[in-house]
Formats: sequence, structure tokens, C-alpha cells
Amino acid sequence: MKISVAIDGPAGAGKSTIAKLVSKRFDLMYINTGAMYRAVALKAQEQNLEPENVQEICNIIKTMEMHFENDDLILNGENIQDKITTPNISSIVSGYASISEVRAILVKLQREMSSKFSVIMDGRDIGTVVLKDANFKFFLTASPEQRATRRFKELQERNIECSYDQILKDIIDRDHKDTHRATDPLKKAEDAIEIDSTNLDINGVVNVIAEYIGKGK
Ligand code: C5P
Repeated sequence: MKISVAIDGPAGAGKSTIAKLVSKRFDLMYINTGAMYRAVALKAQEQNLEPENVQEICNIIKTMEMHFENDDLILNGENIQDKITTPNISSIVSGYASISEVRAILVKLQREMSSKFSVIMDGRDIGTVVLKDANFKFFLTASPEQRATRRFKELQERNIECSYDQILKDIIDRDHKDTHRATDPLKKAEDAIEIDSTNLDINGVVNVIAEYIGKGK
């Protein structure tokens, strides 16, 4: 049976780490939609295009072939995962993700990617827009301080220079932009199960999700 799992939530709530682990447990294809918005931001920045340059940005997206290999985003044959997960891209991505024309193109691509396989998809609008009929919907939250601490550690492990205060500020700023934009803002789907991971470790959250999927409801 083909199933679909939607995971939404704010920046740094652990969505991608958790989605990857759940995907392995249930043999689902993992689609990281944040990576796709980040790829658009990367390409737009390389060409000095501000979010106001809507038409030019849409034209660039038409030249972008995106797919996932081992959970990493491959853009036109290049693994760009490291390039798109920098503090620089994190600080600009929401501006591009708020363009409704960009969202329309990426939502269509995401639906195409999920049409043939059992998938777990994470993002901001999966349970509300992209996979409205998903079999399972989860909304992951954690305090901004806890989320910033996790991001800070992750970047330090990758030897990327950053400050905790700047990351916390970026997370709060991104949450505000993502929840207040006009098109498909971040919000919990009415039928999503909310999981607050502030005091849970990764395995604790994976187990909660796996229990719902295992039970089939
Ligand atoms: O999940 P991640 O932090 O990588 O997402 C980066 C940004 O992409 C988010 O802050 C948001 O602006 C945008 N995004 C979105 N809709 C999605 C996934 C990500 O608007 N489904």
C-alpha cells in the first residue's frame, strides 16, 4: 500500500533528522522541500537576483533539475547539500520562499515527486497544501532556544563559523516570515498530530511517530 507522511514545523525543530530516520524504518522516500527552496535561494543569489525579480527567478527554476539521492539534493547533477545548509542561505531563503509564483512551481514538482512512491515529506505547508490528503500528518515544535542550540551544535560540528545569538535571531526572524507570509504560511494542519520535542531526544520523537504509523492511524 502506498502511504504518505507529512512533517511540518518551524526551523530547527528536527524535522529532517527525524524524517530521515522514519523513512529508513518504513522504507519511504524522503523529500526535503526546504532544500528545494534553499536551492532556489542559492541560484538567485549567485545571479544577484533579489526576491523582487520574480520573473527572472521563475526562469531560473525552469533550468533546475532537482532530485534526491541518499537524502541529499542533486541540482543539475551536482550534490549541493553543503552549499544550501549554510547560515547565509538560511538567512535569505524565506524571502524567496514567500514568492507565490515560486511556491506554485515547487509545490507542483513536490506533488509529482510523491505521486509514484510512498513518501515522507517535510516542510512548512506539507499537511496544509502539498499533501493535504497525507495518511499521517505531524507538526513538530520546540522552543526557539532549544532549536537554536541544536542548529549551533550542528554547524559547529561542520566547522562553520557562527554565533549562538545570531542563530537564535535568525530562527526567530525566519519563524516570523514563514508564519506571516501571504501564500501558504507555516501553520499546523487541523488534523496534524503536534509533537513538542523540547524535552524529547531524536529517538523519542521517532518512536512517537513510528507508533502512529505502525498502528495505521
Ligand atoms: O526546512 P528548512 O529550514 O530547510 O527550510 C528553509 C526555508 O524554506 C524555510 O524557512 C521556509 O522559508 C522555506 N520553506 C517553505 N516551505 C516548505 C519548506 C521550506 O516555505 N515546504
